[in-house]
Amino acid sequence: MAKVVKFGGSSLADANQFRKVAQIIRSDRKRRYVVPSAPGKRSPEDIKVTDMLYSCYDAVGLGRNATAEFLPIADRFDGIISDLGLTISLDNEYEKITENFKKRVGRDYAASRGEYLNGIILANYLGFQFVDAAKCVFFTANGDFDPDLTDACLSSVLGGYSEAVIPGFYGAKPDGTIQTFSRGGSDFTGSVVAKAINAEMYENWTDVSGFLAADPHVVENPEIIDYITYKELRELSYMGASVLHQDAIFPVRAAGIPINIRNTNAPGTMIVPEAPEGTEHKIITGIAGKKHFSVISIEKDEMNSEVGFLRRILTVLDNEGLGFEHIPTGIDTMSIVVSTEELNSHPDTVRYISQITHANH
Ligand code: ASP
Repeated sequence: MAKVVKFGGSSLADANQFRKVAQIIRSDRKRRYVVPSAPGKRSPEDIKVTDMLYSCYDAVGLGRNATAEFLPIADRFDGIISDLGLTISLDNEYEKITENFKKRVGRDYAASRGEYLNGIILANYLGFQFVDAAKCVFFTANGDFDPDLTDACLSSVLGGYSEAVIPGFYGAKPDGTIQTFSRGGSDFTGSVVAKAINAEMYENWTDVSGFLAADPHVVENPEIIDYITYKELRELSYMGASVLHQDAIFPVRAAGIPINIRNTNAPGTMIVPEAPEGTEHKIITGIAGKKHFSVISIEKDEMNSEVGFLRRILTVLDNEGLGFEHIPTGIDTMSIVVSTEELNSHPDTVRYISQITHANH
């Protein structure tokens, strides 16, 4: 059996972090498939390599010199290589990349090079096989992720290697164009890899100690959640708890593979299909909150006995193309919680709802 381990950008920001990562991987022989992000910030003022790549690509688009603009990025990777005492050179890769920047092959391609180059270095450092995600993570021609093709290809390619590094965040369309997932998408790649090799665990190593039971900006010293179900996690993430990319649970959930969010200092949070026995006493797993909602409050005597009332109200939202988040109801009251921004762009909604509420049926 194998574990898939994903490391975020701050875990791979410099050579020291690489050493810690290697130690973690070597301390458990099951950690055989590794998904890295691009190097992240080394200090609060530092810039993530992904952001440097976007800016560099844009600068080249404005006519600036590609090689000169790329230099600070190359320096970051070369710094890691030399600090680790590796003998590889990425000069040919840098040349290819700057050529492609000049040819304007796309912003996604540009952003993806952070994971790509970091993957080459990490594979070399660990002595693992490097597997380019462009060869086994696929999108359709119109840019949707292609789970079936990806799963088939990844499991056959990775089946051939007992240990491999697969860069996160990107894949390719049928014509070979590189496409990325949304920001933070290496979490998703890790999940897809875990599913493809039928891993016993997907470990997501990050700079936090796990999922917190509340927002530390609001509640002092909240507890770390030890077990959380996929469903609970969806609810908490949607409400703003952002430790994991929001789509990352889908691939592993289908296969029942647990995710372990953790860092070096703590066992972290296990994300599982069902809460394990013995944890039932924890009635509330966590609390999260989100701002910028509006509540449309509706009051009508004996609303509950008026057949079809809710449907008529919801038809207004349908016609306006307005989604809703939550509808708590009472015997004579109902509240529709909607995004304030969306409501503001559909200013007639409240008037239509009011007309329905005051009509006699
Ligand atoms: N490097 C990418 C980003 O900054 C993807 C990731 O870190 O997961 O969004």
